[in-house]
Amino acid sequence: MWLERLLLMTPRQRLSTSLETNGVGAWLGRLLLMPSRHRLSTSLETNGGWVWPVRLLRVPPRQRLSTSLEMSGVGVWLVRLLLAFLLLPLAACATVPSEAPQATKRIALTFDDVPRGPGAFLTQEERTDRLIAALKGARVRQAAFFVNPGNIADPGRAGAEARIARYVRAGHVLANHSFTHPHLNATSAADYLANIDQAEAWLKGREGRRPWFRFPFLDEGGADKIKRDAIRAGLAQRGLKNGYVTVDASDWNMEALAIEAKAAGKTIDMDALRDLYVESHVQAAEFYDGLARRTLSRSPAHVMLLHETDLAAFWIDDMVAALRRAGWEIVSADEAFADPVSALMPDVPSAQGTLTEALAWEKGLPAPRWYERNTISLANRLFATRVLKETPAQ
Ligand SMILES: [Zn+2]
Repeated sequence: MWLERLLLMTPRQRLSTSLETNGVGAWLGRLLLMPSRHRLSTSLETNGGWVWPVRLLRVPPRQRLSTSLEMSGVGVWLVRLLLAFLLLPLAACATVPSEAPQATKRIALTFDDVPRGPGAFLTQEERTDRLIAALKGARVRQAAFFVNPGNIADPGRAGAEARIARYVRAGHVLANHSFTHPHLNATSAADYLANIDQAEAWLKGREGRRPWFRFPFLDEGGADKIKRDAIRAGLAQRGLKNGYVTVDASDWNMEALAIEAKAAGKTIDMDALRDLYVESHVQAAEFYDGLARRTLSRSPAHVMLLHETDLAAFWIDDMVAALRRAGWEIVSADEAFADPVSALMPDVPSAQGTLTEALAWEKGLPAPRWYERNTISLANRLFATRVLKETPAQ
C-alpha cells in the first residue's frame, strides 16, 4: 500500500512522503545521510540483520532471487533498498523539507514546591548544594524552579530565601506556583487569583523571574468550565502564561515513599531507588513524546515535572545522562515554554494533568493518555518490590 501510493505520486512528492511515512522515513533518512559505501552494509543490518544473506548463500545461485523474495519480510526489504537507490538522485537535488521530523527530542527540567520541606536523606542546605552541583555537572544550564513563597517563612524551612537565590545565581529561573499551594477545586476563582497575586508580589522584580504560573496539583479547574475560564482570563489579565507540564512520572510519590520507609526504619536499596527514579522518568518522557507526536504530528519541546527532592539532588545527573543516551537534548525552560504548544488551551471534560494528555484527549486519541506509573497503586508496588525488596501481598 505504501509503495502503491508512492508510485502514484510525482517524483517531487515521493521524497517528502517517503520521509513522512511512519518507520520507513526514519530508515530511509538514516540511509541517505550515510556515505555510499556504508549504505549496503547498513541496509543489510536493518530488518533482520545478517541472518537473511547468510541463509541465501546456502541456496544455489539461480534459486537465490526467488528465495530472497519468498523469505518473510525480505521482499519488502529488497523493494525498499531498490527504492532507496532510485531516490538517491532526487535526494541530491532536493532540499530537506522544512516540515521534516525533529531529529532530536527536546526537554526542559522544572522543579515544583520550592522551598520544599525536608526529605528522607539530606538537610535542605545539602539538597540545594547537591542539586545545583548535579545540574551544573550535567550541563543543564537553565531549569525552572516554581516557588510557593508562602512556605518561605516556615520555621522548618529556615534559610529558604537564600537557597532560592542560589538557584538563580547558578543560572536557573523562578516562577509562580501560588502562595500557599491551594487546590483550585476547593477554592473560589477570586481567592485563587488573590493567592497567585500574593506569590507574584514576592516574585516581582526578582532576578530570574519568569511570567509563568504552574497550577498546584496540575488542577486547572476540573469539570468546572466557568472556573477554568475565569482563571485563564485572570492569568491573561496579569500577563501570566500557564507553566504547563508535558511529562510527569509522579516523582513526588517516590519521594513520599522514601520518607515513609525511612521513618519506619526500613532498609532502602539506594541503587534500586536510583534505577527506578531514572528509568521512570526516561519512560515517561518517551511515553508522552509518543502521545504528543500522535496528537500534533511533531515532537514539541517538552517540560518535565519534577519537585525539589532529595532524589533529584542525588540522581538528576544520572537521569540527564540516561535521557541523552535515549536521544534527548536538554533545553532551557525558556526554549520549552516558547514552543507553539504553549498557546494551546485545550477544551476537555476535565481540566487537569499534563498538557499532552489534554491535547490528546481533545483530539479523541484513545486512553491510556498518561504514563502508567502515574497510577499510584502500580508505582507503590514497584517501590515495595524493587526498593524495599518486599513481597507484595497476594
Ligand atoms: Zn506543587
